[in-house]
Amino acid sequence: MNRTAVIGAGIAGLSTALMLSEAGYAVTLFSRGIGGLLQSNGTIDVLGWENGRADKTPVTGVDSAFARFTAENPHHPYAQIGLENVKRGIAHITQKLDFFPSYREEEKLCNVLLPTAVGSVRPTAVLPESMRHSVLKDGGEYLLAGFDRLKDFPLELAADNLRRNPLVRVKVRTKLLDLPIRGGIERDANATVHARAFDSPDSALREELCRQLRGEIRPGETVLVPAVLGLRPQTFRTISGELAVPVGEIPLPPPSVGGRRISDALLGACRENRVDIRLNSTVVGAVAQGKRILALKVRQAGRVAQIPVQTVTDAAGRYESGSIVRDSYGKIKESIFGLPLFSPDIPGRDFAAEKIYRTGVAVNRDMNPVDEFGKPVFTNLFCAGDILGGSLPWDEKSGEGIALGSAAAVFAAIEGK
Ligand SMILES: Cc1cc2nc3c(=O)[nH]c(=O)nc-3n(C[C@H](O)[C@H](O)[C@H](O)COP(=O)(O)OP(=O)(O)OC[C@H]3O[C@@H](n4cnc5c(N)ncnc54)[C@H](O)[C@@H]3O)c2cc1C
Repeated sequence: MNRTAVIGAGIAGLSTALMLSEAGYAVTLFSRGIGGLLQSNGTIDVLGWENGRADKTPVTGVDSAFARFTAENPHHPYAQIGLENVKRGIAHITQKLDFFPSYREEEKLCNVLLPTAVGSVRPTAVLPESMRHSVLKDGGEYLLAGFDRLKDFPLELAADNLRRNPLVRVKVRTKLLDLPIRGGIERDANATVHARAFDSPDSALREELCRQLRGEIRPGETVLVPAVLGLRPQTFRTISGELAVPVGEIPLPPPSVGGRRISDALLGACRENRVDIRLNSTVVGAVAQGKRILALKVRQAGRVAQIPVQTVTDAAGRYESGSIVRDSYGKIKESIFGLPLFSPDIPGRDFAAEKIYRTGVAVNRDMNPVDEFGKPVFTNLFCAGDILGGSLPWDEKSGEGIALGSAAAVFAAIEGK
């Protein structure tokens, strides 16, 4: 049996591990901690803004925008990943997670506009079922509901901004609900606390929510609520079924319930497929011979162990996760393998901070890290997700597309080897 290691428990690492384990590989996943999914919106962003961001025109047809974008940005990871792999990665995750409508690779990708927690509007490509009705439509009428005890959702500010946003004309009314979260003792609970309370086997809180909303909804309105309707996807289904009107969730700042649902479901699917998940395990280096990695040096339980590997996928993220670090002298380095890093020069975007943020690993089509001459540094090392340099995912709205597309590309490369 072929042993393969994956580093990182973000969307890129978990997706790669799942694909490999389903294909029969014995996968060990090492991760320092949980990944960035708890900071994500719970949607799948592929390419939100034309030209990455410059003019802030939302992309509608992702397929054609992707082709334009990669032609103009040959150093962006998408140029190596390709749209087919992005679609393959999205198809895989949506077919595994039952709270996403199943996407098929041959379908075109189109963006829709979603409200944010402060009432701005952003494009995204693939939505979970709980956000299907959150899509903003010209002329749409929305009842925006807030929760009295929920911090992180400023109801009136969000409503005011939504009414004035330039991208879509909508009518918005508000209703502040007073729900006794944790028996009414907590005044400023976060999204996770609310979601756990709605998940409770005791249905009183869900019934109270429905009672307060029912008295407010007018015919033709869609109800928008902050994304707190259960960590379990079934809780949202129960509540929206009981209300029997269109209900949509609005993503909140971290800890994001939408992102947590994806993280929990991917971890669960990996476990079901017998991925050996080792959390609190930091990969600190490797033993290599020529261009092959023979073993990983993994710090776990206070000591460093050498773990033999056949192939390795590095999905350890970028600065946020400590995979790429910048010291006080401004020196930037990749912290596990000492891989060469690059940051493309982009005309008109020569801000120092942006250049730092774009820094990451360059790869070939097989997602092997390459040196300045385009030669693979290690032939059995593959990179996926945010570690790939050249992008500004939060700005472009491309993070999940890069993660899932590179996961699919890594899987194809390992299968072909
Ligand atoms: C504030 C913010 C907002 C964002 N907003 C958006 C957005 O709106 N749209 C969008 O598309 N993208 C957005 N992004 C980007 C998106 O979050 C990332 O592209 C995505 O999370 C990358 O996933 P990943 O799996 O590659 O890495 P991560 O989710 O960062 O996971 C990295 C994993 O590697 C582990 N790790 C790190 N080093 C080691 C080590 N040495 N040994 C073992 N494990 C290690 C970490 O513990 C973690 O589990 C945003 C990012 C940030 C920071």
